[in-house]
Amino acid sequence: MRFETLAIHAGERPERRFGAISVPIYQTSTFAFEDVGKPRGGYDYSRTANPTRKVLEDTIAQLEGGKAGFAFGTGMAAETTVIHLLKAGDHVVCGDDVYGGTYRLFQNVMSNLGLEFTFIRMNSRRAIEQAIKPNTRMLWLETPSNPLLNIVDIEMAVDIAKRHNLITAMDNTFATPYLLKPLEYGVDLVVHSTTKYLNGHCDVVGGAVVTTEKFAGQVHFLLNAMGTCASPFDCWLVLRGIETLPLRMRQHEQNAAAVADYLSQQPAVTRVYYPGLSSHPGHDIARRQMKGFGGMVSFELKGGLQAVNSFLKKMQIFALAESLGGAASLAEHPATMSHASMPREFREKVGITDALVRLSIGLENVDDLIDDIRQALQPS
Ligand SMILES: *Cc1c(COP(=O)(O)O)cnc(C)c1O
Repeated sequence: MRFETLAIHAGERPERRFGAISVPIYQTSTFAFEDVGKPRGGYDYSRTANPTRKVLEDTIAQLEGGKAGFAFGTGMAAETTVIHLLKAGDHVVCGDDVYGGTYRLFQNVMSNLGLEFTFIRMNSRRAIEQAIKPNTRMLWLETPSNPLLNIVDIEMAVDIAKRHNLITAMDNTFATPYLLKPLEYGVDLVVHSTTKYLNGHCDVVGGAVVTTEKFAGQVHFLLNAMGTCASPFDCWLVLRGIETLPLRMRQHEQNAAAVADYLSQQPAVTRVYYPGLSSHPGHDIARRQMKGFGGMVSFELKGGLQAVNSFLKKMQIFALAESLGGAASLAEHPATMSHASMPREFREKVGITDALVRLSIGLENVDDLIDDIRQALQPS
């Protein structure tokens, strides 16, 4: 089956007992046993496994082309679980402009438990190889990155990882499996915040991990041991969202390309970050490894924080809010919102300046979105 069909039919659908087309929500903590040691339907306790969650896990696994999928309470719960594949003393090489929460988890939580992290710009073989140490065990990738939309050459990164016997984990939240399938390039574990495009309607927080055969058992063990799983109702919402993922991604991209193009022509805008622009440094790699460039656009405004403030206040359709990937367009200020947990010095070094604005381009009529940006750019 092809992607659009899998998004609607993967997993046990229709459900076996009554033929329900919509996946039933098994809102139960526990399941009856037939006999000591023998649950009636194969399920015993919902932390370990739940039938609604299983359909979502199978669906995401098939969309990513992986062996096994797992659904988590949030994207951060998924990341927390994956990073526990490592033990104290292990070292991770990680992108320097990853999601702010990823940076915070690694730098402010996992470092205290004995893991070591080096954050680098993953734009060359040399940069990655120089960061590898004898105790390096994992390469953590995010491409396109949040909020700068930097592109990592996955083929190159995986090649280095294989030579040094490292696990590769990749956060595929921005691209979604519709635009990019990291496992096809040899990545071991794909991580998602399903809160974003996979669910797509800003009404749930959730996470997912898809693995190759090698890591499936360990990830399930950790999910069950740490209790990081998603609730049945949240899984149902994400399943409903995924049914329209291909349609939504195509429209997000079409709208984002038009907005990026418009912003590029505005004198008040000093810089536009969108991998679909031929001026973007990662454009050629993105074109090679992705099926499209996605729906996120970042840009810098002339006049710094003051200009940004006035712009964000004037927006009518775009709401000033964290998060992304929903039907409704959102704008946010990474320096004080999604990436506020990064120390200023580090943030500015990687390019997340006070003048940077990040847009999640929604599914509205693109002319309305551009009109909204036009009026917000007018000097007050
Ligand atoms: C939002 C986000 C996360 C964290 O996911 P939550 O569901 O908010 O816990 C991780 N990575 C990326 C790229 C994100 O955008």
